[in-house]
Amino acid sequence: MSQDTTIFSKIIAGEIPTEFVYEDDICVAFNDISPQAPTHLLIVPREPIESLDKARNKHQETLGYLLLVAAEIAREQGFAESGYRIVINTNGDGGQTVFHLHVHLLAGRPFVFPPG
Ligand code: AMP
Repeated sequence: MSQDTTIFSKIIAGEIPTEFVYEDDICVAFNDISPQAPTHLLIVPREPIESLDKARNKHQETLGYLLLVAAEIAREQGFAESGYRIVINTNGDGGQTVFHLHVHLLAGRPFVFPPG
């Protein structure tokens, strides 16, 4: 496991008070501090994985689970029909800034593709 000293570990450890929209043994979800859409949540595994590039077969279940939790939250918040955008920024060109893998759930407005 990689050493993880990111802000997300501190949030998960309760060192930075953050309201969790969802939490269980595997992951937590909270509002992005700089929302890019009316709804912008981050779904973050408790286990720190540096990036998608560092994910391995042993992370298969966790990665799938994060997507299912994102979809469940989107459903609960009423975005299943209108749609939403799931993003996993990876490394420099991918726009990743926090090196603790996380899933962005963006909703509440239309999104274009390809993204910028
Ligand atoms: P990424 O650029 O994909 O690594 O995403 C990192 C995200 O974390 C960005 O959208 C930031 O706005 C968000 N972020 C950084 N610090 C915090 C924080 N303390 N609470 C919530 N979101 C944060």
